[in-house]
Amino acid sequence: MTPDYNTLLLAIGLSGFCLSATLFASWMSTRVERFLLSWSLGIGCIVPAVAVYSAYVENPGVRLGCLAFLLQFLGFAFIYGAAYRFRTGRRGRKRMVVVFTASAAIALPWLLAGYDGIGFIVLNLLIASALAATAAEYWRGREEAPLPLTGIAVLYMTTALSFVLCAAVLLHGGRWVLGHAPDNWAENLNLVMAIVGITGIGAMSLALNQWRIAGSHQRAANTDALTGLLNRRALFDRYGDETMGEHRAAIAFDLDSFKSVNDRYGHAAGDAVLKVFADVLRDACGTAACIARLGGEEFIVVLDRTLPDRAHRIGEHIRAEFASRLIPFGGRPITCTVSAGIAFGNADGLSFDSLLSNADRALYMSKRDGRNRVSLAA
Ligand code: GH3
Ligand code: MG
Ligand code: MG
Repeated sequence: MTPDYNTLLLAIGLSGFCLSATLFASWMSTRVERFLLSWSLGIGCIVPAVAVYSAYVENPGVRLGCLAFLLQFLGFAFIYGAAYRFRTGRRGRKRMVVVFTASAAIALPWLLAGYDGIGFIVLNLLIASALAATAAEYWRGREEAPLPLTGIAVLYMTTALSFVLCAAVLLHGGRWVLGHAPDNWAENLNLVMAIVGITGIGAMSLALNQWRIAGSHQRAANTDALTGLLNRRALFDRYGDETMGEHRAAIAFDLDSFKSVNDRYGHAAGDAVLKVFADVLRDACGTAACIARLGGEEFIVVLDRTLPDRAHRIGEHIRAEFASRLIPFGGRPITCTVSAGIAFGNADGLSFDSLLSNADRALYMSKRDGRNRVSLAA
């Protein structure tokens, strides 16, 4: 037995409803990924659209037809908005409004004028365009998670094509006034494709959400919350097992008399000073170095392909730049200095721990010699 049209519609309605509920629940649990919310709203519009359309199939009338069109346009506008939001992080409200109103303005007049055949052709082409634009958004953002995002883009594009087929079959038939819902092989194929699309895309969107959550946890675990630099764990994950050759350098920094900054101006002032020092490090090193806060007021810069001269220049530049900064806090500018120690790997390959100890020893020399200076390890 082949399932009839209404059974297929019922299947879409049910799978859509379940997915919409699952995605909504998954959004509720984290409330981070708003694209999930837009997506479940979109599917949430498609479900009643299918119910109304099903009534229209039994009982074709202009009002039911218009309502089914409007609900579909609204649903696909949300689905497009979700994709835009996923890629850019922006709301895209204006875009959704444009997609919805333009679609309604182009398609509804045909239905109202009695040319329902043309109305359905236009409907199918408009939905296909919205789906293609949706596919394009995921495709453009595919770098973040190539497999699920390419899968989602392909599913949207295939669904779009099944709408184009519906339009093509109607165009080929050439009947501009139908008086009932279109009924041909392309419509059946389109419904099957819609079921595959909704369930497949829904499952992959959930996977995508998990992917993002895992990524943000990983970033949080590797980042120092105050300065946004890498933390000790991230630094050792990166270099802990490597041997340090002669072109590797580590510069250890420790802010001078930092306890007295806290004592004189308060802990919040100390925090502000730490942030400024992190900015100085970032400005001086760019992306060419690995910068980490080891803890407290101690920082490490690891330079990967460098010569002694350059490492010393960078250390000296950071020291001078930080010493010259007037850090605004509560109306009074604070100044602070930093001491540094530089150590290099060697041809035999040094362990990362030894490199850090050598840099630390050099740093201790800077402290002993009066602070606010840079020393090289012996
Ligand atoms: P020295 O020049 O010898 O390095 O002296 P110091 O005062 O900088 O060294 P010490 O190790 O005695 O003090 C470090 C201080 O850093 C103690 C601690 O209260 C402060 N500190 C550590 N972490 C933080 C932080 O996250 N925020 C603030 N405001 N202070 C911190
Ligand atoms: Mg210290
Ligand atoms: Mg200190």
